[in-house]
Amino acid sequence: MNNYERLSGIQEGLRKGRFNMKQVVEHYLKRIDKLAYLNAFVEVFSQEALQQAEEIDAQYRQGNPKILSGAVIGIKDVLCYKNHKVSAASKMLETFSAVYTATAVQHLIDAGAIIIGRLNCDEFAMGSSNENSAYGPVHNALDTKRVSGGSSGGSAVAVQAGMCLASLGSDTGGSIRLPASFCGVIGLKPGYGSVSRYGLLAYASSFDQIGIFCRQIDDCAKILRVISGPDENDSTTIKKKIAEIPDFTIKKKYRFGLIDNCMNAKDLDPEIKSRIEHICSTLKKSGHQVDNIHMPYLDSMVPAYYILTTAEASSNLARYDGVHFGYRSDKAKNMDEVYKLSRTEGFGDEVKRRIMLGTFVLSAGYYDAYYKKAQQVRRLISDKTKALFSQYDFLIGPVASGTAFTMGEKTDDPIAMYLTDIFTVHANLAGIPGISLPLGKHSNGMPFGLQLMSAAYQEDKLLLCAAGLMQQFQIKITVE
Ligand code: GLN
Repeated sequence: MNNYERLSGIQEGLRKGRFNMKQVVEHYLKRIDKLAYLNAFVEVFSQEALQQAEEIDAQYRQGNPKILSGAVIGIKDVLCYKNHKVSAASKMLETFSAVYTATAVQHLIDAGAIIIGRLNCDEFAMGSSNENSAYGPVHNALDTKRVSGGSSGGSAVAVQAGMCLASLGSDTGGSIRLPASFCGVIGLKPGYGSVSRYGLLAYASSFDQIGIFCRQIDDCAKILRVISGPDENDSTTIKKKIAEIPDFTIKKKYRFGLIDNCMNAKDLDPEIKSRIEHICSTLKKSGHQVDNIHMPYLDSMVPAYYILTTAEASSNLARYDGVHFGYRSDKAKNMDEVYKLSRTEGFGDEVKRRIMLGTFVLSAGYYDAYYKKAQQVRRLISDKTKALFSQYDFLIGPVASGTAFTMGEKTDDPIAMYLTDIFTVHANLAGIPGISLPLGKHSNGMPFGLQLMSAAYQEDKLLLCAAGLMQQFQIKITVE
């Protein structure tokens, strides 16, 4: 069976006429249909995708394919695609259609990619397990009783189970890297400003980033280059596109900082710990520098993250008021009730919890104790991180303390759920890129990832190093 595993392979097959784009799309549509029980997709754009396949076939016949012609990509249900529904997996936006296309999605389309559908996620991207979706949870393809990780669970499982070549997700505190680790695929969160957020439904605007799930680093590099770069609709974007990586062989010796206090965290699974230690000692033997380093404030990261993101969310989500757009309660008898009932009925429990928390930490009398303090903590983390990157090329550590947990295990304990993000929120607090690379399977049969972080705007270097690690440690990602 041809699994259409790598973009360059698909493009070669199309060029040489070994198969056509319609067959590629049909292959994915069949998988999506067969694996519908995983609940990864909330909508499949079948007819459109088949029509677009004809255009791609014509491009190949005429000898003018584009850089992503041949790529079939799914998008998380928080990304706008004009005239298509976008719901953030919330009842609040169940019937809402996008009136414009997100810049990142537009870049993909302009480069020849086919968008195959909308992918399930936690409501408004709030969650770590994809159990907070109005469409129900996403199942891990390796063990359907276990979670996919969140919030971009659908995006991770779609790639894990070969339902598309790659997918876009969003990462505010780990929502790409965590599900990538739980599902055994590559998950890249670019640094803040590298990819336009225009057309991404906002959760916490100073943290949110659009990123990529895929099985091959070269696919990741191509897609990132296409979606990155300046955008006049997002003033936080930087001026340059991510550089092309023509050759993935590592010619340099790198300096790695292994985050000691993450490695010694009491909840870190011993198998994950020893696998990462093994990677580090092998890297040392092959001439790289690997030092144990201490990243202060680790224990303050999750609290600071949840104070700041809930504060931003409480403001961002104020627009869903039953008036401007989205769900409106039909029980309301006056204006006040329109707001109250629409929001009470339209939002799920976790979203409501965060709006209340965020409103609380911003309220007079508590602002200084919580919000302001958390901003100060964020600055300290940022400064320390910057200082570390003057000594090291990469920071290295685990993505999560364990493998995918079972469904329901943490749903009644929000603090335990929030602590799942302990190693991932750092990159978002500091605005730097981070990638989750699969390290194979645990003896419990589930995959887990290694996290590599670089200084801001060094995604090209990060991907080059990731490619080197995958080669050296023979990391192969199979379709589950
Ligand atoms: N689990 C984190 C949260 O719920 C991260 C979510 C995300 O990155 N979108 O906030």
